[in-house]
Amino acid sequence: MHGVLHPLFVHLHIALLFMAFLTTYYWFFKGVATSIFENRIYNLARFNTAAGLLFVLLSMAAGIREAGRLCRVLQFPVGQVAVREGQPRDTDRGRVQRLPVAGPEAAAVSPGEHPSHDLVPRHAAGWVPARRRGHDARHHARVLRSPAGGLERMSATTTRPARVVVLGGGFGGLYATLTLLKELADSELAEVTLVDRRNYFTFTPLLPEVAAGTLGASHVCYPFRSLSKKGRLHFIQGEVREFDLDEHVVWIENLAIPYDYLVVALGSTPFFFGNQQLESHGLTLTSVADALAIRNHVIRLFERAVVEPDPGLRRQLLTVVVVGAGPSGVEIAAELHHLIRSTLLAYYPVDASEVRILLVDGGDRILPHFPRELTNAGRTQLVERGIEMKLMTRVTGAGDQHVELNAGEEIIPTRTLIWTGGTVPSPVLARLPAKKTGRGTVLVDECLRLPGHPEVYVIGDGSHVMDRRHQRPYPPVAPVAIRQGVRAAANIVNSLEGRGGESFEFDFTGNIVGLGGGMALVNFLGIKFHGRLGWWVYRMAYLQRLVGAKNKALLVLTLGLNALFDRDISCETLPDARSIPLGGSYGDAGP
Ligand SMILES: Cc1cc2nc3c(=O)[nH]c(=O)nc-3n(C[C@H](O)[C@H](O)[C@H](O)COP(=O)(O)OP(=O)(O)OC[C@H]3O[C@@H](n4cnc5c(N)ncnc54)[C@H](O)[C@@H]3O)c2cc1C
Repeated sequence: MHGVLHPLFVHLHIALLFMAFLTTYYWFFKGVATSIFENRIYNLARFNTAAGLLFVLLSMAAGIREAGRLCRVLQFPVGQVAVREGQPRDTDRGRVQRLPVAGPEAAAVSPGEHPSHDLVPRHAAGWVPARRRGHDARHHARVLRSPAGGLERMSATTTRPARVVVLGGGFGGLYATLTLLKELADSELAEVTLVDRRNYFTFTPLLPEVAAGTLGASHVCYPFRSLSKKGRLHFIQGEVREFDLDEHVVWIENLAIPYDYLVVALGSTPFFFGNQQLESHGLTLTSVADALAIRNHVIRLFERAVVEPDPGLRRQLLTVVVVGAGPSGVEIAAELHHLIRSTLLAYYPVDASEVRILLVDGGDRILPHFPRELTNAGRTQLVERGIEMKLMTRVTGAGDQHVELNAGEEIIPTRTLIWTGGTVPSPVLARLPAKKTGRGTVLVDECLRLPGHPEVYVIGDGSHVMDRRHQRPYPPVAPVAIRQGVRAAANIVNSLEGRGGESFEFDFTGNIVGLGGGMALVNFLGIKFHGRLGWWVYRMAYLQRLVGAKNKALLVLTLGLNALFDRDISCETLPDARSIPLGGSYGDAGP
């Protein structure tokens, strides 16, 4: 109840706070405008107020949506649906799908009964009991409290909650877990265990803004332990190492975790096309630690540049090369440019003409998945700001002080190579005995299950699912991972309740990318726009998707504060930070 009410009130309060902030802002600017510049700032204030009102209305709409959800949870007759035996439940859309009752595969595990793969973890102490709501802990006593030291097989068929284990708490795994917790809230059918190497979820789309200091780690991290408020959940922080599909066990470091259903959502990792130089010199952007490392590195470059007397070495320090002109590359280039122009140049006495940001890509345009007119608009904006585009160009090597283009055709003196040039599925998927594509993504059926193992689901960036309508695989993006997480969880619930699975289908509503400095490109249901309006839509979309009410509130407050104050430029030199020696002892740039 608490967890359901929360978002509604937060949305409304955020809306009211924002309205108060914008009203003050409006009157302040109106006063200044009439006395100094007459119409120009006045128009700006009017624009901001209009945009603010739009924001408030959208926030309220979001709040009303939460209210709708609340009504459903409280069993008010708003959009309420009844699920009858033999009907699969489409939890994502909140309505019942009428499909044939389970086939032989789906019936492999019948309700309340689970196969004889009941193994005891080696180190039972590794399990953390989560908050329980009306759940009888004795159901699990055999598994959790067994005195046996090694693996122990139990009776052929037991009646106990099924063990659903979700590997990876990124977009796919998190939404699978949330759906399972919601659907199984008042049921004894299953217990959910989430495993991740980190103890928090990372909202990756905002990482470029963390790298640019616009936002901090607290905006994009959501601790998995907070999920225990939404239902009973075990969480294990650890590294997934091995899969034993025959024994129904996964190994998390030295801990064997038995499962009845497994959801594999281990995401992807940067890929350097086998180029060791790029791998050892490239800064990646996949985690909060990466984002903070980039931010600290860029600020440190400026600290060094202000005391560097040699203009060549100064330019080398102030040159940033971003590889990959997909959404992450474009966003990080644009955000760093904004950080430098809006904040760093105000504090560091360096010549702006010595600062260089290059965006390099082998393709002939940026953002290849966006409609061409938006791509062109984005490119024009970035070039006008001073970001250099090097398209149809390959990065072929790198060293401490240079980046090599097109096998030596051009050498860029720099100490900063940011790599967003490619990804591959998590390397641990190589240990999963399953058919894979050349890229390493796991082939699954239309219900996201592993062929031959209907109890194992593989979702997100690590899975290969064909979009039959468009005859191509679904791309590795967050909305696909989210919907796959929801679909896999819904199919597990269907199976637990004796119903058949449903195919995964997904229709893209559009795409969106931030360009920093209050600009974004938006393609929503074929309607394309960019600039400030795009930025408001971009902000609203991410505000809506951001996980955790506290994170949403923090985001709004921080954006308000950023409008008034400069970003924080204090910089931590972490032990594994790139060394940038003080003074002109770098030697010549070049390979
Ligand atoms: C900087 C950046 C910006 C992005 N921006 C966008 C965007 O704007 N829009 C968009 O649609 N997509 C974006 N993406 C892509 C999007 O993040 C992915 O498509 C999405 O996260 C895939 O979800 P997933 O569940 O498959 O994997 P992930 O979200 O990557 O989650 C994988 C999880 O598994 C855990 N894990 C991995 N290996 C192990 C292991 N061996 N043991 C234990 N835990 C493990 C990880 O810690 C992680 O929590 C962006 C990605 C990045 C890096």
